[in-house]
Amino acid sequence: MAASQQTINTLQQIKQTITEYNHQYYVLDEPTVPDAEYDRQMQTLLKIEAEYPELVTSDSPSQKVGDVPLAAFAQVEHEVPMLSLDNVFDHDSFYAFEKRMQDRLKDTSKISYSCEPKLDGLAVSLLYENGKLVRGATRGDGRVGENITANVRTIDNIPLALRGTDFPQRLEVRGEVVMSRDGFLALNESQLEKGKKVFANPRNAAAGSLRQLDSRITATRPLLFFTYSLGLVENEQQALAGLHSERLKQLAEWGLPLSKELRVAQGAKACLEYYAYLGDIRDKLNYDIDGVVFKADQIELQQTLGFVARAPRWAIAHKFPAQEEMTQVIDVEFQV
Ligand code: NAD
Repeated sequence: MAASQQTINTLQQIKQTITEYNHQYYVLDEPTVPDAEYDRQMQTLLKIEAEYPELVTSDSPSQKVGDVPLAAFAQVEHEVPMLSLDNVFDHDSFYAFEKRMQDRLKDTSKISYSCEPKLDGLAVSLLYENGKLVRGATRGDGRVGENITANVRTIDNIPLALRGTDFPQRLEVRGEVVMSRDGFLALNESQLEKGKKVFANPRNAAAGSLRQLDSRITATRPLLFFTYSLGLVENEQQALAGLHSERLKQLAEWGLPLSKELRVAQGAKACLEYYAYLGDIRDKLNYDIDGVVFKADQIELQQTLGFVARAPRWAIAHKFPAQEEMTQVIDVEFQV
């Protein structure tokens, strides 16, 4: 059945709303609504588009990653696009995700997953050439990001040179820059003392700190980096492992920070146990996480499954229930 005019109007309205939220969040680092509200709008958009696929357009927020880079930064073209992740918000949807993969693979055996915290910060690409850090970039719209090399060089736990000698000649490492929780509290206290703007949450503070035109400001901020994937790899000295989790461990050996909470689980049930475990320890971590990321661990499976417009088919973010629905908005508007 064709969509009614009312559905078309609703869809148009939601697309405009989300586009505006994206600009506030990704470009200005000043969200005006809590993530839970954003996610609700996005879920409604996805539901309408699933029901009426003929209404999906290439400019729909459901087809796009992030937003355009700020013109104030030099641009970096990602040779391997930096995508987003699809989300699920309940266990049934996670089982459905696994079933979709099994159907596509025509194989119902248990899938082995790399289980990782979903770090709530900013995606960053680090390029190492002959083991030396030569470029740092934001994700931007997934194709083109912002050159933030000078800024990433100020982050204490990002190695300027890799350890060992067996790394590929060109190696792009991807991960998340977050702000530690205690660092965030101290930063806001000091901002208040100086009569400056306070940040809504550690994610905003991390994004605002990293996307500074003056790297001396970034250098004063308590930022941390954790790696979660590889991008471009050229001229390997020895073949990389066939499992994503093993590749991450290899990155850690080369000196890149890796979350201690990385685990491998067989099948959906074990993944959900990990989800419960991480939910239990979430408040004890010194950085914010907003869910768990499950990735098919075998690189071969990842390659077979491939990608859709903005996300891989072999990974999913299972989000935690929203914590603070309104306080973030009030905080964002609170400027001194
Ligand atoms: P996302 O945050 O849902 O998931 C993709 C991102 O997760 C990746 O780009 C990466 O940066 C991050 N990530 C963290 N840990 C990871 C791991 N272990 N492995 C791989 N990736 C990992 O996607 P998104 O497209 O960046 O943003 C969408 C989300 O951002 C929304 O669901 C919403 O919560 C928030 N958002 C909020 C507003 C707002 O106005 N409040 C606006 C836009 C987006």
